Amino acid sequence: MTGVPSPHGTNRCYINHKCRCAPCREANRLYEKLRRARHLRDMAANPHHRYHGTEYGYRCGCRCTPCTTAKSDKNAASLARKKGTP
Ligand SMILES: [Zn+2]
Ligand SMILES: [Zn+2]
Repeated sequence: MTGVPSPHGTNRCYINHKCRCAPCREANRLYEKLRRARHLRDMAANPHHRYHGTEYGYRCGCRCTPCTTAKSDKNAASLARKKGTP
């Protein structure tokens, strides 16, 4: 890494320096929000986007059948784990 410090309250500080202070966490939250919004736009424009059919696609806000299925599959899996089903 370089010795150039990233100011707090930036996503770079959060990612590069693994800083978890409040301004950096907030910056990262906003960054993720913007990134998901961008991915959602890309997914809406491209039905073959690689995030379709993933839980991440659902979290981006896509509610197409493959994304919804991926999300509910994950829910079912974690429910099964919680219940201790083998
Ligand atoms: Zn910080
Ligand atoms: Zn989708």
